[in-house]
Amino acid sequence: MLDFDKLEKNILAFWKKEQIFEKTQRKKKGQKSLVFYEGPPTANGKPGIHHVLARAFKDLFPRYKTMQGFYCLRKGGWDTHGLPVELEVEKELGISGKKQIEEYGIAKFNQKCKESVFRYVDDWEKLTERIGFWIDMKNPYVTCHRNYIESCWWILKKLWNKGWLHKDYKVVPYCFRCGTPLSSHEVAQGYKDIIEDSIYVKFPLKDEFGTFLLVWTTTPWTLLGNVALAVDPKAAYVKVKLEKEYLILAEACLRVLTDKCQVIEKFPGEKLLGKSYQPLYDFVSYKEKVHYVVPADFVVFTEGTGIVHTAVMYGEEDFELGKKLGLPKHHVVAPDGTFTSECGQFAGKNVKAAEEEIIEDLKRRKLLLKTEPITHAYPFCWRCHGPLLYYAIDSWFIKTTAVKKALIRENNKTNWVPAYIKKGRMGNWLETLIDWSLSRNRYWGTPLPIWQCLGCSKQICIGSYAELEAYAGKVPKDPHRPYIDEVVLKCSDCGQKMTRVSEVIDCWFDSGAMPVAQWHYPFENEKTFKDQFPADFIAEAMDQTRGWFFTLLAISTLIFDRNSYQNVISSGLVLDEKGRKMSKHLGNIVDPWEIIKVTGADAIRWYFYSSTAVGNDYRFSLFLVQEVVKKFILTLWNVYNFFVTYVKVDGFRVKEQESRRVKENILDRWILSRLNQLIKTATQSLEKYDAFTASHAIEDFVSDLSTWYVRRSRDRIGLTAENGEDKNACYATLYEVLVILTKLLAPFTPFLAEEIYKNLTGEESVHLADWPIIDKQLIDEKLEQQMKMVRKICELGHARRKEAGIKVRQPLNRAKCKVQSAKLNDKLVQLIKDELNVKEIVWEKRDVKEPEVTLDTRLTPQLKAEGEARELVRQIQELRKKANCRLEQQIKVYGPKWPEEKKLREYIKKETLAKELLPGKTLKIATLND
Ligand SMILES: [Zn+2]
Ligand SMILES: [Zn+2]
Repeated sequence: MLDFDKLEKNILAFWKKEQIFEKTQRKKKGQKSLVFYEGPPTANGKPGIHHVLARAFKDLFPRYKTMQGFYCLRKGGWDTHGLPVELEVEKELGISGKKQIEEYGIAKFNQKCKESVFRYVDDWEKLTERIGFWIDMKNPYVTCHRNYIESCWWILKKLWNKGWLHKDYKVVPYCFRCGTPLSSHEVAQGYKDIIEDSIYVKFPLKDEFGTFLLVWTTTPWTLLGNVALAVDPKAAYVKVKLEKEYLILAEACLRVLTDKCQVIEKFPGEKLLGKSYQPLYDFVSYKEKVHYVVPADFVVFTEGTGIVHTAVMYGEEDFELGKKLGLPKHHVVAPDGTFTSECGQFAGKNVKAAEEEIIEDLKRRKLLLKTEPITHAYPFCWRCHGPLLYYAIDSWFIKTTAVKKALIRENNKTNWVPAYIKKGRMGNWLETLIDWSLSRNRYWGTPLPIWQCLGCSKQICIGSYAELEAYAGKVPKDPHRPYIDEVVLKCSDCGQKMTRVSEVIDCWFDSGAMPVAQWHYPFENEKTFKDQFPADFIAEAMDQTRGWFFTLLAISTLIFDRNSYQNVISSGLVLDEKGRKMSKHLGNIVDPWEIIKVTGADAIRWYFYSSTAVGNDYRFSLFLVQEVVKKFILTLWNVYNFFVTYVKVDGFRVKEQESRRVKENILDRWILSRLNQLIKTATQSLEKYDAFTASHAIEDFVSDLSTWYVRRSRDRIGLTAENGEDKNACYATLYEVLVILTKLLAPFTPFLAEEIYKNLTGEESVHLADWPIIDKQLIDEKLEQQMKMVRKICELGHARRKEAGIKVRQPLNRAKCKVQSAKLNDKLVQLIKDELNVKEIVWEKRDVKEPEVTLDTRLTPQLKAEGEARELVRQIQELRKKANCRLEQQIKVYGPKWPEEKKLREYIKKETLAKELLPGKTLKIATLND
């Protein structure tokens, strides 16, 4: 079989030597641009097959548009900051947590982080090159570079000036393992369904001995931070007797109790307001008024008891309520997720781990009514997989909610592929938008450029190195921690020292800032930045919807009041052959190199474009890619091979033939009509960034070309063909079809297209060629319809032969076709006769939905003799093949029985290039010396 790996490597070497990519990249004056943004990967791991997927799409459209005369600057990029990088380094160093990092030294730690993010850069570059992804890897943007960080500072300062960057105590999803809050786009990636024990607990009322407020919670650890209980003042509550105790709960929630209880009293929730209760834990003595019943508007009755446990530091609604009522903001949990030293027997214990002990303790103290397992979606850290807590933290926020309307407007203007993401995944996300939790209490990231006065607490935000230098007199060469932390400013108000706040920022901010920061705008490259904003298209996996797709949208809408991309391709996951997620654990991860070695990169690319519509997940395996090779690539290759082989045999010179003259042959007219329809469909689909429709149209065309055009044209060419004019027409047509087809294929399968195109045309490269333009005059819709009918009739005729057990080689006298509409012209009828090997077609006009075909299967001696002659031809061709005869090689044949009729003997001689048919015991050939 063809060695695709070798073929593609030769093409790669050719591209490199002749600098074909660079040649496509030379911008001509006044040329239109296609703007593409590379979503930066992190090179601290090897690239996987899902990266090949994204890169296949990223490569397709720039190649396509380049052929249309556009200029596409393709700047590479690397994402380098962030928690994932830090966690990897912690693992390598065998340390864990912030205390150990600081003992190890922030400077050394950050140095390790920096090294680690380029560890696999070679692997990335090699794979990128091998799959034919043309991108400028020599001048990439790098998010940890000094200039990049300065541009991020410039953006942050803009936000600061607008009042959109602020610090707030807020309850945020927080990972105590990583010691940092997570932004909501990070949290969205880590929900899992889990089963946990929820509990019903009893809070004793202070003034009514033996009466309890019944409360339900799914997070027992938050009970230590309880400061109030909330009720709906307007709802009906009841006091019930259960054995010797009295319980209070909402009437609507009575279902949580057994029928053994007895309702004693009914009253509005209002009556409960202000009542004091005994806390379950009284470790903390508060100065403020605590532990009483308060009103709230978020009480629900569909679950729980209608009395809501309020721990202001551990729930968003709780916090807002506490703010309104002046409840104390006091932590019983440290930032590392353990109970503080105040918490008696629980001090120092991880809150999630201590839950069982809390439940046991309440049971022992007879304050637990019951436990109830519940299944709910709980957020986990997307990186370390630890459970997240809702935790009040002093954190920096970007006020994305200030531009919510603009974000929705800009998203609505964006073309999403697939379209349903716009209103779905992305639209829903924007509807429930909250402020962007920006700061991270970590080390390896863009430092938040805010300095605060130790005296009067005045804060300033720095927007450039020049500005910092003006204040401090110097700027560290490396703007990362710890060097930046050493820069101390002087307060212009009180003259005291100002130090930088300790936080770094969310690394998703870095990548979302790339339209600006990749050019070090506004400090440099103003013209390039303006030329390259916004992007015409971006393409990444769907999990970027709330990641990079969102941060790009958010930052550019905050700063420029518009989105930074116009089209976005959001692709599904790459699963294994059985539809399971690929994971180390299952051992089903496919190494892209293993596939490339066997099938080449074009096959993988084609698989991703054509196997399913964008947005769906991909099942992936070597076997599935090999199917693509068999079904599509080899079909195309065989047509090409057929052409090249016979052109040589016939000594046909393409260049000497005028390919654009009027085509007489109906097959030529048909395939050229189909070809021009294909140009139309492919172009229209690619304009909409729809690779699936385009690739399918190409696949259908190649199938028609192979199974009909070439199949029916075989007799038109080769040494046995009689009509020289028609032979030339066939070659000229097939040549034109193949050349245009390779141009259409060039963006999809750049290697295969290059190989065929170069060989056929002798031109430098298909990627320097122009995208084909449709020739409307060659489109003949009526003919295409008729040809469909012809093929349908042939299909039915073949089915009838199969039923009768008569091979196609055996000629038959007639086929009868019942059709509704008028009969076909002679040329089309001749096609049917040839294909079905019948001498006559009899038409019957009938009222039938689909054509019907019957065959006259009677075999006369004459028909039998003709069938035998054809069978002999077949056998002799086999022998020629076995003997490796050249196509034009003449032979003589020995055989036990030759047809009596001279016409048939002549026919055999002509078809097999036999000079003589001689008597012999068995069928045998001998080559003739020429
Ligand atoms: Zn974590
Ligand atoms: Zn001051």
